[in-house]
Parts: sequence; structure tokens; C-alpha cells
Amino acid sequence: MKGCLDVFIKEEDRLIVDSVRTFVNKEIIPVREDIEKDKEHKLVGQILHGLTKLGLIKAGFPEEYSEMKRLSAIEIFLISEEVARGDVGIAVAQAATRWGLSPMMLGKNRVLMDKFLPIFCEDETHLACFSMTEESSGCDIENLSVLHGKTIKTRATLEGDEWVIRGTKRFASNSGVSDLYCIACQTDPSQGEEGIALIYVPASAEGVSFGAFENKAGLYGDRNCDIYLDDVRVPREYRVSGPGEDAKIIRRNITAGRLGSAAMVTGSARGIFDEVLRYTGERMVAGKPIRNHSMSAALLADMAIGIETAKAYYLQVAHMLGHPERYGEASSAKMLSRASIAKVYATDVTVSIANKAMELMGSYGYMKNYNVEKYWRDSKEIQLWLGGAQLGRLDVARGYYDL
Ligand SMILES: Cc1cc2nc3c(=O)[nH]c(=O)nc-3n(C[C@H](O)[C@H](O)[C@H](O)COP(=O)(O)OP(=O)(O)OC[C@H]3O[C@@H](n4cnc5c(N)ncnc54)[C@H](O)[C@@H]3O)c2cc1C
Repeated sequence: MKGCLDVFIKEEDRLIVDSVRTFVNKEIIPVREDIEKDKEHKLVGQILHGLTKLGLIKAGFPEEYSEMKRLSAIEIFLISEEVARGDVGIAVAQAATRWGLSPMMLGKNRVLMDKFLPIFCEDETHLACFSMTEESSGCDIENLSVLHGKTIKTRATLEGDEWVIRGTKRFASNSGVSDLYCIACQTDPSQGEEGIALIYVPASAEGVSFGAFENKAGLYGDRNCDIYLDDVRVPREYRVSGPGEDAKIIRRNITAGRLGSAAMVTGSARGIFDEVLRYTGERMVAGKPIRNHSMSAALLADMAIGIETAKAYYLQVAHMLGHPERYGEASSAKMLSRASIAKVYATDVTVSIANKAMELMGSYGYMKNYNVEKYWRDSKEIQLWLGGAQLGRLDVARGYYDL
């Protein structure tokens, strides 16, 4: 897939992606099978640490904190794609830290940035988490334009100079292993979006505890559990912004999250394609390699069409996100719609590519040591999260007419 889209990908983008590609080929692909056996997350921790050492998290911070050139949206998504080619769960854990820290930067909250960004710059082992989902509300919380955050049950009450937070969050990436949590709370459901508050909670705060890790089909590099917030007190300044503004920042994060999801599954699809091309070039059936049968070639061609299209479209939307003056803010219905097209298309295509790859590889495709079934299990969840395939489609339509 080299050489694509010079118009979006500049020489400097290629340099950083090349360094990530080298890391993925050397440090992730040879051990990707072991990630699923790594119950203590020692290997996962080492890999995440190695990636962070490349400067990939702090390069997303304003330059005054990181002392390095800030990554563009295109670079961030290309990096996620490349990491996911090696292991999707690792890409998720890495992207989740960026996702968890971005609200304080979007809200330009100096108190939060001065307190926490230097810690993340100094110690590459730190993780962060962005937590919206609750037991009774997943898509409904993400369905802001219809439900306006009224179903968020986690309550935040201002008492003097402190927020007091009570509630339970579910499933968020990096939960139970993060140092810092950005929690979507409601101050007053009757206020709708004006009542939404995004508040940072350090894992060390009194009243924070965690449930057992979820037992998932895939994405082992990412950890997920319930987060219990039992009258947790944090300073008033730990709220990202203010009424109405915090809701806007959630919208921006949902748009970025859906686009990041498209980038990650595109990486996964490339990983599958590498495996299936290699295998079907070696394995002989009816006297010639599987991929030289025209029926197989047609399936492989469909895979290539899907990957190239998914990549070109997500890069187009990443370019649009980088130019809000021309294409609109990331919080707009239009940009959510475009990011949702990228996610819905790329996830549908990738799940189908995994399915077809297993068909072409016969029963070997179903075996763990042939790698394809892992990409399939990992990518399926990306189709289900952040609104799933159905709310994603509704948000696509909402970008074109009043639904
Ligand atoms: C590995 C993993 C990582 C995750 N990471 C995070 C994270 O970092 N932060 C976070 O906050 N959450 C995270 N989640 C949670 C995830 O985003 C939610 O589970 C997801 O949005 C769906 O919510 P739900 O499971 O409650 O499904 P529900 O909300 O119950 O929806 C179920 C289904 O109903 C349908 N549906 C929903 N709404 C509509 C509608 N309006 N119209 C028509 N059909 C509809 C869709 O088909 C949907 O898939 C993660 C989950 C997992 C498993």
C-alpha cells in the first residue's frame, strides 16, 4: 500500500510512519500470538512503553509541553493504522491514552495541562482513559443530538471548590490500568447538554475502585472493567470547560474516535491481506497456488478494493478535520457524519475481509497460529463500539438531512 495519496501524506509523515512500521515489524509482529497469553500484561506494557518512547503520545501535546513538533491529525491516524497492522488491541490501548488526554487540550484547560501533561511527558508508562459508557447506556450517551446526555447517570455536584462524583462507568479502554480518567458526568439531566460535565479523576483519588477485567473475545492488548466512583472529590478546575462546551468536546472526541476506529481497522485489514496473500501464494490446490485460481483472485481483488477505499476515505476525513475553517468543526453534524462513513465502511469491509481470508485459507485460517482469526475477533468489536453499525449509519444520514 506504499505510494498512496501523496497529496495527503507528506514526506515528514512518511518518516514517522516508517519508524513506527519498523517498530511494529520488529517488536510486535513476532510476538503477537503471545499477547493473548500475557495475563499479567507484562509484554503489553513493554510494547506500549516502547511505542511511547518513540514520542508518539507527547507529540500529540502542545509544543510547549512536549518540546517537539506536534503531530498532525493525519500522522496520528496513520500511526494507529500501522500499530493495528501488528496488533489491534495494542493500537487501541495506545489511542485510548491520546483520547483520554485530548479533552483537556481541546478545552485549553491550563490547570489540567500544567498538572498532568508533564507527568505523561516524563514517564512513558502512564495510560489514560476516556469514559462515557454506563451499564444502562452505551449508544444512548453517544447519541447526543437526540438524547443530549440525559441518560448519563453518573452525577457530579459542585460542593464549594470541589466536584463530588458518584456513579459507575463500564467498558472504557484502559480502565483499571490508567493513571488518569476523563469521566462524562451529568450535573442535571433536565439541562440536557448544558448539564454534561467532563471531569478528570486521577486513579489515586479516594473513592475510585475497579471491577474485574472483562473476559472478551479479542483485543487483549486493551483492558476494560467497571469504574466505581463513590463520592470522589476533585478540585473544581478538573472540569474540562463549562456548560455546553463539555458536550461539544464529547462530540469532537466521538468524531475523532470514529475516525481513529476506521484507521485501526484499515491496519487490521492490511495485516489480514499480508497473511492471506502469503499463504495463498504458497499453498497448492488443484495443481496451482490458491491465489492463482481466478475465483480466489476475485476475492483478493475485492479485499484490495476495500482496503484502498477505506484508507483513501479515512485520510480524506482526517484532512478535513485538520481544516475546520473550510470543512466545519469536528463537533458538527457534518464532520460526525463523515467520520461515521469512514468507520462504518472500514469496519464492514474489514470484518468481511477477515471472513473471506479464512475461506481462502481453509481450516488453516481458523487456526490461531495462522493469525487471521485474531484480526477477525479484534476488529469485530471496533464495529460494535462507539455507536455500533446502526447509530453510526443514523449519524451518517444526519449529516445530509434533518432526520
Ligand atoms: C473493548 C471495548 C472498548 C471500549 N472502549 C470504550 C471507551 O474507551 N470509552 C467508552 O466510553 N466506552 C467504551 N466502550 C463501550 C462501547 O463504546 C459501547 O459498548 C458501545 O457504544 C455500545 O453500547 P452498548 O454495548 O451499551 O450497546 P447499546 O447501547 O445497548 O446498543 C446495542 C445496539 O442497539 C442498536 N442501537 C443503538 N442505538 C440505536 C438507535 N438510536 N437506533 C437504532 N439502533 C440503535 C445498535 O445496533 C447497537 O449496537 C468499549 C467497549 C469495548 C467492548
